[in-house]
Amino acid sequence: MKKKTIDNLKVKGKRVLVRCDFNVPLIDGAITDENRIIAALPTIKKLVADGGRVILCSHLGKPEKKLSLAPVAVSLSGHLGQPVKFLADNQVVSDCVRKAVGEMKDGEVALLENTRLRKEESKNEEAFSKDLASIADIYVNDAFGTAHRAHCSTVGVTSFVAESAVGYLMEKELKFLGAAIENPVRPFVAILGGAKVSDKILVIKELLNKVDKLIIGGGMAYTFFVAQGHTVGDSLLEVDRVKDAKEVMELAKAKGVELLLPVDTVVTQEFSADAAYKTVPSSGIEDGWGGLDIGEKTREIFTSALKDAKTIIWNGPMGVFEFPNFAKGTLALAQEMAENTGTTIIGGGDSAAAVNQLGYGDKMTHISTGGGASLEFLEGKALPGVEAVQNA
Ligand code: AMP
Repeated sequence: MKKKTIDNLKVKGKRVLVRCDFNVPLIDGAITDENRIIAALPTIKKLVADGGRVILCSHLGKPEKKLSLAPVAVSLSGHLGQPVKFLADNQVVSDCVRKAVGEMKDGEVALLENTRLRKEESKNEEAFSKDLASIADIYVNDAFGTAHRAHCSTVGVTSFVAESAVGYLMEKELKFLGAAIENPVRPFVAILGGAKVSDKILVIKELLNKVDKLIIGGGMAYTFFVAQGHTVGDSLLEVDRVKDAKEVMELAKAKGVELLLPVDTVVTQEFSADAAYKTVPSSGIEDGWGGLDIGEKTREIFTSALKDAKTIIWNGPMGVFEFPNFAKGTLALAQEMAENTGTTIIGGGDSAAAVNQLGYGDKMTHISTGGGASLEFLEGKALPGVEAVQNA
């Protein structure tokens, strides 16, 4: 599909509304991870260099938290090396904001307040979409992380603006994820982990049509253990998903996909960072014990399975990586991926956090900025935020 990109736009003297994903983690009002801000810079710099009047917008946190984007304006000013005027207004777009935008000069940058302060935002209601459009000649969507949501600032606004395009970050995300799915260099291996089968079942089924090997670890592996006929003690288990796990095992066989499940697991008697632990075979989890990581043998099997891979996609940690004692499986796979000379893609969310936390972020070909969006893309679903720009 041909995308409208910012390279095709003439922005000089125009008001360009850019939807970014500045949904950054905050502790006591301080930003603890600026990756999403840094990822937005290429688009902003290009529009500034071309003489656009750049008006940025984003959501931040859950609507009920009513968080302010003020700290993001400060961080952005530093990264851009020019002032970013923060248009603090709980209405997000008001007459005052319209006036301030009207006074902007070419190459200046402003940031609107958190779009979720407007109750219409998440419902994609016209009033707020029109308000956003009233301060823009051109709309650019660069927020991959929210492209799977049809909100005013991602979809609705495109109906009321003359011209729309996707930004560089959105293009990059679609390029890497799209190439991996549509035309992967083989062998193509997917690693899926994280807490729940239910969150990932659609992507697992879709990937079974594409991959040569599928590795499953993390909390969701225990539902597969039960499907194999084992008991799992106090480990995470989704009883109602055992039939899905069985289906995945049968589908993998039918499609000739090598499915790798943990053969051993690290278990504890309590869920805590300093709990005593031991490794047991997948068939040997006793009552009162729960699995928090893949075991040593599994680490070897999984890392060997990656050696000849030319494309690897990873979504979801292999264990409770937040506790160092149970981050070893996740660490082993991150290390193996870092050494791989093929294309290595991290599908956002907790896997991105894990890889960055473990210090391998810059060794990957691509780390997606959108956990939910990348999962929906890999499930084969159209992303409303991208569709809206194509069809505008
Ligand atoms: P997700 O967002 O679905 O990718 O899940 C990530 C979360 O799964 C992380 O917070 C991990 O701590 C958690 N997780 C991974 N493995 C396990 C496990 N064996 N038991 C409990 N939680 C796990």
